[in-house]
Amino acid sequence: MNKFTEAYRKARDVLENQVFESKWQEFLFADCQARTLFGADGLAVARADDPERVRKRLRDLCKSGNRKIGAVIVEAAQNPVSSGTLAERAATLKMLRHLYHVVKKGGQNVWVYSPPKAYEKWVFDELTGDAKALEAKLNHEKKIFSSTEMRWMASALGVALKISEDTKAKLSGATGKKDDTDAVIKRWFLDEDSGDAQLTEARTKLLDGFKKIAVACASDKLVFADYADWIKTRSKYFGAAFRGGEGGGFPVIYLEGAFTRLTGNTGKMWLCAETIIHEFSHHEVSTRDHRYDSSGLKPAKATLPYAKAIDNADSWGYFALDLAGYLSKSDRLNVLK
Ligand SMILES: [Zn+2]
Repeated sequence: MNKFTEAYRKARDVLENQVFESKWQEFLFADCQARTLFGADGLAVARADDPERVRKRLRDLCKSGNRKIGAVIVEAAQNPVSSGTLAERAATLKMLRHLYHVVKKGGQNVWVYSPPKAYEKWVFDELTGDAKALEAKLNHEKKIFSSTEMRWMASALGVALKISEDTKAKLSGATGKKDDTDAVIKRWFLDEDSGDAQLTEARTKLLDGFKKIAVACASDKLVFADYADWIKTRSKYFGAAFRGGEGGGFPVIYLEGAFTRLTGNTGKMWLCAETIIHEFSHHEVSTRDHRYDSSGLKPAKATLPYAKAIDNADSWGYFALDLAGYLSKSDRLNVLK
């Protein structure tokens, strides 16, 4: 597996077509509505409490039977007459157990998939073998994102949404002065040869793009996850997203170690919001990474010509921050090298 959406589809298929141990079957599909939760176009917010119910049932069963979670999940996944495999059902339960709906006052609600830190592959690739092998893997409980980090993500998403809405309003002319907005477009995208044609084109592209980015930021199906294959190098990255999305009908953004390292540093919240907008520009507008802030984002024929700047994710992120007034003058000068 290569992405969250593939694991999501697999879990959905298991929930649709396989049968769990009888008491768990009743719990998952009568008490909870696991098939509704894993909807055709993404997670259903109406069932947002279900993952916590699964966690509570797992905790209770561990306590009452004095067992570890691995044994409890293996038992729940047992059903000799079901199609599919024990490992697939165990992985589906483990995925559910690591799924969170984060609701933060002043932030934006978001789904977070926070798998065990010990896993180096997607859950369905990680959980293979017989009951004994599964049990040992299932016992890994320490999550890659802490609860504090998840709340921080929701706050950063709230800021990203606010910035995107503000950017959209200014680009459309609903608020702000047109000359001021144009000056910021020129600053981040136009090179020495660019003229009015490029300015008009850039304004249109940016407005169309930020309309989509604002919708994605506000989506109640948005998922923040960790990119499993990056587990060893994640501290180098802020985030990632597939260009044009993953085809599942809902947005997925991967947030990595460089992002969560800023948790609690409110002075760097703008950088987290920039990361989210950067990744959404890949996801919604298919931008590329021609150049990063560390190399300088000043548009220039020799280094970052207009055609590349308008297709560059970091330029989109910093432009929005600047236009919405979230970028300090010193940070701006630093990045516009
Ligand atoms: Zn990028």
